[in-house]
Amino acid sequence: MTAAPQLARSVARLGTESAFAVLARARELERLGRSIVHLEIGQPDFPTPEHVAAAGIAAIERGETGYTPSAGLTEFREVIATELSRSRGIEVAADRVLVATGAKLFLFLTILAVCEPGDEVVYPDPGFPIYESAIRWAGAVPVPLPLREELDFSFSPDDLSERLGAQTKLVIVNSPNNPTGGVVPADVLRTAADMILDSPAWVLSDEVYRRIAYDAEVASIAAVPGMLERTVLLDGLSKTYSMTGWRCGYAAVPEPLVDPLTRFITNSVSCVPGFVQAAGVAALTGPQDCVTAMVQEFRGRRDLVVSGLNALPGVRCRVPRGAFYAFPDVSEVRAAGLADRLLEEAGVALLAGEGFGAAGEGHLRISYANSRPQLELALERMAKFLTSA
Ligand code: PLP
Repeated sequence: MTAAPQLARSVARLGTESAFAVLARARELERLGRSIVHLEIGQPDFPTPEHVAAAGIAAIERGETGYTPSAGLTEFREVIATELSRSRGIEVAADRVLVATGAKLFLFLTILAVCEPGDEVVYPDPGFPIYESAIRWAGAVPVPLPLREELDFSFSPDDLSERLGAQTKLVIVNSPNNPTGGVVPADVLRTAADMILDSPAWVLSDEVYRRIAYDAEVASIAAVPGMLERTVLLDGLSKTYSMTGWRCGYAAVPEPLVDPLTRFITNSVSCVPGFVQAAGVAALTGPQDCVTAMVQEFRGRRDLVVSGLNALPGVRCRVPRGAFYAFPDVSEVRAAGLADRLLEEAGVALLAGEGFGAAGEGHLRISYANSRPQLELALERMAKFLTSA
């Protein structure tokens, strides 16, 4: 008898993003004729700006549809270096900039490039679930750093200090944060940087929501003197320019990581299509009023959602200062499987907080990247469900 083929054990360590599973279930319910309000998926509901899409289409028409260098096209890398330098007040050289198919790929590649099995990685909890998934898959040890609600979902330097040591290989910072909308204040980042500079840790600063902030100055840990040499400064086109499906992220990386990360890109996705990079050049160098208008609209929706949530029985919601998520505390509702029940019974698709880490327990993640009438409908349905539950 021959043995059955087996999967690699590492596959069992690979996590997922509940947003995709909930979206699939919500679509199934819609196919069955149910009306669902979508508050689950983390992408802006605006079209890619016309001038950006036009630049991509023009590049396709010019025949820019072949392979490109794995590190990215020189023109795009130069534009990114200029943008990162200007926006963060630092000096980023174009040969330190890499381009990949989404910011997400950099999370994996950075962890794979710096972690040996058993190394520790400190990451935000609640946080983007792909951090923990990638850490575990690499055989590294996840060390959650609590984001504290009473600190508006920032972390405390003391909590970081307790988790940082000779075994720490990487610290992941994400501000503005998914799922809480929290922004880490500049002084906390400075204190954190001082501690990290005394440790052997690299830093991955996930700044994909940097432009989506309200009344908050978003600082970068990479701007603290000495930090650029150990920080992967990550940003991308997805959130800022409504380009999630174009798949393009970029990073400024320390010199020792340029070659390993480029080789990982060659080994995996090869490169980002040239027409996507042409659209990226148009996005970063063109008019920015599309971003301003989007953020203004998000601000209005945030206010609507937060005040609506705070009027619901058993729900408390802090005012998020960035991204397009609200993260209400629903622990007083005491309804097991609340997120599932809201989808199945009330037709509101949103995510359970525990999908973002143990510290997310008792919360929901609500993406307000949906129209105001849909947000109002969701609040109405939640109110009805909660008052009858
Ligand atoms: N980082 C965070 C915190 C995110 O929330 C997301 C997407 O939801 C990403 C990275 C990935 O973005 P991209 O579409 O560029 O891969």
